[in-house]
Amino acid sequence: MTGYTKGRARLDVAVAGGGVVGAACALALARAGLEVALVEPRPAPRWLAERPDLRVYALAPDSTALLDRLGVWPQVIAARAQPYRRMRVWDAAGGGELQFDASAMAREQLGWIVENDLLTDRLWAALAGAGVRLHCPARVEALEQDAAGARLRLDDGTRLEARIAVAADGAGSVLRGLGRAGGGRARLRPARRGRLHRDHAAARGHRLQRFLPTGPLALLPFTGGRSSIVWTLPDAEAARVLALDDEDFATALTDASAARLGRATPVSPRVAFPLRRQLVRQQVAGRVLVLGDAAHAVHPLAGQGVNLGLRDVAALLAEVEAARLRRADWAAPHRLQRWARVRRSDNTLSAYAFEGINRVFSNADPLASLARGPLLGLAGKLPPLQRALWRHAAGL
Ligand SMILES: Cc1cc2nc3c(=O)[nH]c(=O)nc-3n(C[C@H](O)[C@H](O)[C@H](O)COP(=O)(O)OP(=O)(O)OC[C@H]3O[C@@H](n4cnc5c(N)ncnc54)[C@H](O)[C@@H]3O)c2cc1C
Repeated sequence: MTGYTKGRARLDVAVAGGGVVGAACALALARAGLEVALVEPRPAPRWLAERPDLRVYALAPDSTALLDRLGVWPQVIAARAQPYRRMRVWDAAGGGELQFDASAMAREQLGWIVENDLLTDRLWAALAGAGVRLHCPARVEALEQDAAGARLRLDDGTRLEARIAVAADGAGSVLRGLGRAGGGRARLRPARRGRLHRDHAAARGHRLQRFLPTGPLALLPFTGGRSSIVWTLPDAEAARVLALDDEDFATALTDASAARLGRATPVSPRVAFPLRRQLVRQQVAGRVLVLGDAAHAVHPLAGQGVNLGLRDVAALLAEVEAARLRRADWAAPHRLQRWARVRRSDNTLSAYAFEGINRVFSNADPLASLARGPLLGLAGKLPPLQRALWRHAAGL
């Protein structure tokens, strides 16, 4: 699966970063007929059924549609993916509840819960067959660019020449900095800690989200009646909860989730992630495109991080395909600019919406607590509003 290409190679696209977004981008553009290389410093991902990955995603329908088009979704479903049919959102201070139901949206499910390792493993498995040249392990170290293209130097000495370079190398993106793409970044809010672990519970395909003054708690249904937990907490509180023994942790989690799924039983280690939140001002600079977390690292409360990145990929694929259909230049600057404008606008709207929701819901201000329960209740009683909210989150 891993291959080296030493020396110089002329390509259409060089993608930095083989996470879900970078791998999906490389695969999509190769399937569209372009010559693509992918650069990734970490060894090829390997998913093991008996060792579930703690990082799971709530994939929206447009993300699974893209993966299906790329021929990867059937392999993911065959391995392990959990549909969720209901979603409940409520506030710890009381008041109403916002509910989403697949049957009310005339769908079989609202989305799917999938492990990060499984997604990357299956995407990578498809890369070689699509003709993507893999440079792994290697990382992008230097960049030169002009109107004709981008030249990348990798840390193993390889040089790549491509018409465009894609920075999908995560929130701390090196290529974004080298290309001076981004035009400055808006820090959305001081970082808090997210923590994630697995917990045994009768989840029954229900996705739950409770807003607490310290931050949101999400319970995502996983296989075997288990749930995957994403609990956002301020640093000091995260450290305290992390240090609890299993019994006290189970009590804390049961209280935080209002025992909606009964008493929690921890079944995995707990892991803490520092949350990084940022939004670049430009997603293109010359021949460098920025996408995925390199362009927008958003609050995980709505589970939209990977979905936004896959939307960047789907929009780029649509531009390339439309150009090739008309025998026009797929890499013309006006096309890249149009892609960047459309994506920046959707990503900005989403990032500030998540941030706004988090600010209103994750605080102990008595006025805010008085308003938000009834607000959720009201939204829950208005089916057209519910449908509109869901359609936006689902990318439809
Ligand atoms: C606790 C938590 C829960 C989350 N839950 C959800 C969820 O429910 N739903 C959701 O959609 N999202 C969720 N997210 C967000 C999600 O993890 C990210 O949006 C996603 O990983 C971004 O994918 P990416 O491919 O853009 O970046 P990454 O996954 O960060 O991949 C970047 C890749 O670039 C590589 N790289 C780094 N430097 C270089 C270099 N110099 N050259 C080449 N390659 C390089 C890295 O090795 C890495 O493989 C969550 C995040 C957290 C922290």
